[in-house]
Amino acid sequence: MKDHNLVIYNTLSRTKELFRPMHEDRVGMYVCGPTVYGDAHLGHTRPAITFDVLFRYLTHLGYKVRYVRNITDVGHLEHDSDDGEDKIAKKARLEQLEPMEVVQYYLNRYHHSMEALNVLPPSIEPHASGHIIEQIEYIKRILDSGYAYISDGSVYFDVPKFNKDYGYGRLSGRNIDELLATTRELDGQSEKRNPADFALWKKAAPEHIMHWPSPWSEGFPGWHLECSTMSEKYLGEQFDIHGGGMDLKFPHHDCEIAQSVAHNGRPTVRYWMHNNMITINGKKMGKSLGNFITLDEFFSGSHPLLEQAYTPMTIRFFILQAHYRGTVDFSNEALQGAEKALHRMLDAYRRLQDLKPTADAPVHDIAAIERQAYEALDDDLNTPVAIAALFEACRIVNLINDGKAQASQQDIDALKALFDTFMVDILGIVPDIAKDTAAGGSGSVKPFEDAVDLLLEVRAGAKRNKDWATSDLIRNRLSEIGFDVKDTKDGWEWSLKK
Ligand SMILES: [Zn+2]
Repeated sequence: MKDHNLVIYNTLSRTKELFRPMHEDRVGMYVCGPTVYGDAHLGHTRPAITFDVLFRYLTHLGYKVRYVRNITDVGHLEHDSDDGEDKIAKKARLEQLEPMEVVQYYLNRYHHSMEALNVLPPSIEPHASGHIIEQIEYIKRILDSGYAYISDGSVYFDVPKFNKDYGYGRLSGRNIDELLATTRELDGQSEKRNPADFALWKKAAPEHIMHWPSPWSEGFPGWHLECSTMSEKYLGEQFDIHGGGMDLKFPHHDCEIAQSVAHNGRPTVRYWMHNNMITINGKKMGKSLGNFITLDEFFSGSHPLLEQAYTPMTIRFFILQAHYRGTVDFSNEALQGAEKALHRMLDAYRRLQDLKPTADAPVHDIAAIERQAYEALDDDLNTPVAIAALFEACRIVNLINDGKAQASQQDIDALKALFDTFMVDILGIVPDIAKDTAAGGSGSVKPFEDAVDLLLEVRAGAKRNKDWATSDLIRNRLSEIGFDVKDTKDGWEWSLKK
């Protein structure tokens, strides 16, 4: 276990707190995953990448991390409310598919996008529909504790009663007295005692295609319930970290807290973490605003708002250039800036692999850069500062490469270790070539780089033999594929075209 002082901003206490897990060497972490009824979009990238970096960093520090990220495949109704159609059932009806066909189709696509972004798969990815029995048991205990009631085959959480005993809405800081006093009765919600109450179980209307038997009715679980149930099943009655997007604080996470406390008599989560949202040209992203861009559209450039295609690694780098609690505004200009910066870093990383020592003793203080990078990540995952530290290392690499600075073998080894640890392992930034070229996006970058070098070696041999046709063929074809090849005095240099 590495010595560290990781500090995390806890949304519940609204302060930065020293992170100490419940168990010395293990961390339990739960993050709300996608509702799989459409393609992954820019909004999905931020929680996925933020908590991927946290997962990677905790693992790097030596913890055994159990990372649970759920798949919502039932119970998430339109407008995040207790009424309206189930999002997945609606898609299934419109496309004349089985609901589970919709789930599988979009889940496969989600996984593919996540893999392209170099987001590691979580340890467990439980489906809400696979945990109906557990959810029913969970509801029974909340009923026993007196914080829920049955109404016409549905079960509702009694918000006013819970609020009186424990306080409701603390995470989001909503003024609940006001909410309880001013929320007006809505049509079709008359089976609730108070409009602020939320469904734990909903009786299915005859046209509702996803339903299960329960002691109360043929129906389905409420959306908030799955996270309380599945986090407890896989991480225990108390666990370390619960994450998600800021938009989930209310009602979703405040409802999760209420359910868990009603169920166990005490809070479940020790550190609540929320990433901020992404806006597009200053506006919230929304289907009706015409600025809703899927990840595939980013990767292919096929959306009217996009001036070009952006690689998955450019998107990842763009997200990590901002602190996760700060806002990020998407624009072509900002993404093109991220693309340039990413290329600068990856070019330096590639040059570093071929550096030769020119000094006998260390010349550079690489340990200081390493300390900066650790301090940045320990400070509530400050990725932009960690990236700035890596750029300082890039500057040194370029000086050495240009012959403007000396370096010993120790310097070169320390630089390599620095990049491999922080850029590759923790920030998850790797050259896009592997993700774009390797079938299915798996595999490491090295073989592809080696293959390009091999071709250029063949070309050098052809040139020595004055076989200009072969030499030109290789260079021209590589150029068509997207490589810039430069002849240098010691051989060649190549990079991906910008
Ligand atoms: Zn959730």
